[in-house]
Amino acid sequence: MEQYLYEIMEDYKNAESDTEKENIFKEFCTSLWSCENKRRTCTKTIRFYIRKDLQITETGQVFNTWSEIEYKGYKSMSKETDWCSLIRQKINNLYTRHFDKEVILNRDYMDLLHTPKRLYHQWIDGMEMDADELTAMIDDAINEAEILKASYQKAKMQLSWADYKMLTEKFLDRIFQSCKLIDTFENGAPETIYSFINEDNFYIRYFCKSLEYHMKNYTKEYYGLKRGRNRQYVRCRLCQKLIEKTNNRIIYCKDCSTKVHNAAAKERMRRHRQKCYHLENRQEA
Ligand SMILES: [Zn+2]
Repeated sequence: MEQYLYEIMEDYKNAESDTEKENIFKEFCTSLWSCENKRRTCTKTIRFYIRKDLQITETGQVFNTWSEIEYKGYKSMSKETDWCSLIRQKINNLYTRHFDKEVILNRDYMDLLHTPKRLYHQWIDGMEMDADELTAMIDDAINEAEILKASYQKAKMQLSWADYKMLTEKFLDRIFQSCKLIDTFENGAPETIYSFINEDNFYIRYFCKSLEYHMKNYTKEYYGLKRGRNRQYVRCRLCQKLIEKTNNRIIYCKDCSTKVHNAAAKERMRRHRQKCYHLENRQEA
């Protein structure tokens, strides 16, 4: 990277015209998007090896079919430490976390995927396991994992990478405007405590935190929610939409709540009719 971030920010803040500012900002964006640190996803595998002497046993064969479970992962860290790689990494990670439906790495989901491996080690440690029972246990876990995955997928928002880039530039523009120079923050403090690297790290942290903040607000906007210091939010249990937690009992969004209530009312009516029908029949008999 030819320029430190603190230099860019100083140039921007000291720029004499809006056009000059705009050019600095545009150049900054160009560096970010042409950065080598691209967003990458990859297939990962939960793998374990069945001891040779156990491979021929019935239980060993069940484990064998589950000894490689694949899932989608992603590159979440950068080895480079320049501002461009680090801010780009943050931008990549935010996209993966909020928009990429293929990458689901929530703890409870991953725990379920690790079930065969965990059971295998318990078996090796001496726990008795019947092949049929084992098959049923693993099937249950994998089914549960699939259901969980589908619900985490629903919780992700929809946005193409191209549109995300435009959105990010909007965020970055606001960050450029709101960012203050270190001098303003550290009024009166001796300048020498900051090395150039530290100074850059200060701005990188500011950018990453601010991107996170803007993304949070975008999420609320996406779901048509109001923002506010004291507002709390939860996911609808059915469709995973983000909703405001106006009371402790709220579990569904408006649409799902209507659906659930209608279904419950229908069911009550059905049972009621059935009862009446039986009564009538009894009277006739
Ligand atoms: Zn819902």
